Amino acid sequence: MTKKSKHFIPSPYKVVTDYENEFIDEWNKNLSLAVDNVLKYIAKETANAIKKVNNIDKSLDIDIEKAHNIGDEKVYQGITYYVSGFNSKHIPLWRKKDKKKKKIGSNNDIDKIMSSPEIEKLNTLKYTAGFSVWAYDNKITDSPYADNVLVDVKSLRLIYGALYYIKKKYNFQPIKIRILPLDDKKTMCANGSIIEINSKFFCPFDPIKYWNNTHIKYKERQRDAIIEANEEIKKIVKEFSLENPGKELPDYQKNYDNLCIYNLVKRYKEFPCWTYHSKDSVAADLVIHELGHVLNGQCTGAIGYGVINRKERTDEYNKMADSLNEERDKIFKRYCEGGKIISEYSTYNPDEFFAECFVAYVHKDKKLPDYISKYFDKYFSKTKPLR
Ligand SMILES: [Zn+2]
Repeated sequence: MTKKSKHFIPSPYKVVTDYENEFIDEWNKNLSLAVDNVLKYIAKETANAIKKVNNIDKSLDIDIEKAHNIGDEKVYQGITYYVSGFNSKHIPLWRKKDKKKKKIGSNNDIDKIMSSPEIEKLNTLKYTAGFSVWAYDNKITDSPYADNVLVDVKSLRLIYGALYYIKKKYNFQPIKIRILPLDDKKTMCANGSIIEINSKFFCPFDPIKYWNNTHIKYKERQRDAIIEANEEIKKIVKEFSLENPGKELPDYQKNYDNLCIYNLVKRYKEFPCWTYHSKDSVAADLVIHELGHVLNGQCTGAIGYGVINRKERTDEYNKMADSLNEERDKIFKRYCEGGKIISEYSTYNPDEFFAECFVAYVHKDKKLPDYISKYFDKYFSKTKPLR
């Protein structure tokens, strides 16, 4: 089994174009509503048409000045708007805030926990420092300090929201959160006691750029691999016919080549790069993946630097943990050979398999093979996190 102490998992957005269209529509609606309101107000205040225009400009300027961060809010006529991002000129994009956003057809309890009073509290935090104090109070972290200032408020809500959700469900022991600039290829990494978050990706978090890097470029690489393999096969056939005039390539070679192309095409068509749930949960899914590693470490000592809490357990517990770890490695093998893969990264090694499938398990994703969700059911019913 390959042991790794660092992990990397980006989870990309699914429907970027739809999202953009929806976003632009909503933005246009909000903009016309806001401008309409401003115009009505000014018409009452002054009859001077030139003055009117100047005032509109001024009021927009004030909004721009006020909106320093994604997530900043303002109230117009009793409706709350928030800054969902910035355009290329750094002008804030205001979006209407949904008070109760219900997901249709959701069959898990993530929405319930995410609309709990504690999470509501998280939504009122405007400054980054409040998040780590909140996390410490909720026994998520072992220290009330983290370099949250390096991350935008909207990303912090998703990151800390995911931490809270998994804490409620699986009760991991308090961990350290470190936010710092990491290697460009890593978004986050974790072991049984720490999650490191790459501040470069979350200041602010740009899901579209993230999607392009991890999905479109990923697909391009897969496509290039198919082209290269086909070229390679052509070369083999040519060389063979030069050396063996009039003869055909042996069947074993043909079968091998066909299988190679088949697997590459299958990967290109079917596997996403990483496990993710929806376009709205990218940053949260990154954290859930890392928490898969944290739980795998705290429950059975199965990641990173080995068994981290064996001495404090009974022999009986350790025996059971060993057998669960062995079973994990066995089903990983079965999974890789079986063909029904949820993401390419899940085939990387048993640790990543556990973390990737954990994201799907948490979301009750139907793509996750049944024998794996049964394994997780057993795993979490038998174990208890300990750091
Ligand atoms: Zn990982």
